[in-house]
Amino acid sequence: MAEQRRVLIVDDDAQNIKVAANALNAPDLIIGFAKSGADALRRLEETEFDLILLDVMMPRMDGFQVCTKLKEDPEKSHIPVIFLTARTDEESIERAYEVGGVDYVPKPFRTRELIARVRSQLRQLELRRRLEQLATRDSLTGVYNRRRFFELGEATFSRSKAGLAAFMIDIDHFKRINDVFGHQIGDALLKKTADSIGRVLPEKAVFGRLGGEEFAALMPAKDADEARHQAEAMREEVARTVLETEDGRNISCTVSIGLGIDREAASLDGLLKIADDMLYRAKGAGRNRTMLRES
Ligand SMILES: [Mg+2]
Repeated sequence: MAEQRRVLIVDDDAQNIKVAANALNAPDLIIGFAKSGADALRRLEETEFDLILLDVMMPRMDGFQVCTKLKEDPEKSHIPVIFLTARTDEESIERAYEVGGVDYVPKPFRTRELIARVRSQLRQLELRRRLEQLATRDSLTGVYNRRRFFELGEATFSRSKAGLAAFMIDIDHFKRINDVFGHQIGDALLKKTADSIGRVLPEKAVFGRLGGEEFAALMPAKDADEARHQAEAMREEVARTVLETEDGRNISCTVSIGLGIDREAASLDGLLKIADDMLYRAKGAGRNRTMLRES
């Protein structure tokens, strides 16, 4: 079955909601509903929706106001809004697009037309997501690519007042692994390593592949102990995870980790530079270890 999509129907008239929900009844669509603008905004706080069908004429907050509010919210501005309304004067139609709507369906709607319009928006959504995936993810490991890591990293750095830890993580002897086992195994090992690290990182961490066999992560840490503990958890998880090859060999690898704590770093680059220096020392001290400099 296709991936399920959530559609929120917002209308002050329960009968209208019922008719639209019936029209959109399909195994791949999960329908939610809200009976007022305020109700809709509440629902959107609780649940992620992929598409909104929004009535224009509602008491207190009308559809245009709801849409305006959504478009101001960076977490929700991407959700496409189709207006569904009995108001068909040209000014209202124009306004629907001005406030950020992607489509406008007059009521009473024709069922097949509504379905076609909803499907069209969901296809575009799918395409946007795929493009975003290509633009922000490393295709081999699925973690953030270098560009996205730095984008999110800069935002995280500027938000964090104190207590941000940076980790530079590098697979030990990766060139040798590639030489001995071939690039296919090398690639599989990169993927395995990214998975292992991702498993032990908290959800709020920013984690990416910077290039080659080098990864970086940023996460809040209240002190050096917590950061070191996190680094060790990553290092141990990588070391204990074994890659089974098709011909029955078990291959594992280790990582060296350089760690920086942000107290005195003036920039993200500065913090990563500290972590990178520590990584260099971890390599020099024999690999498969974590090195920390508290600034
Ligand atoms: Mg209404």
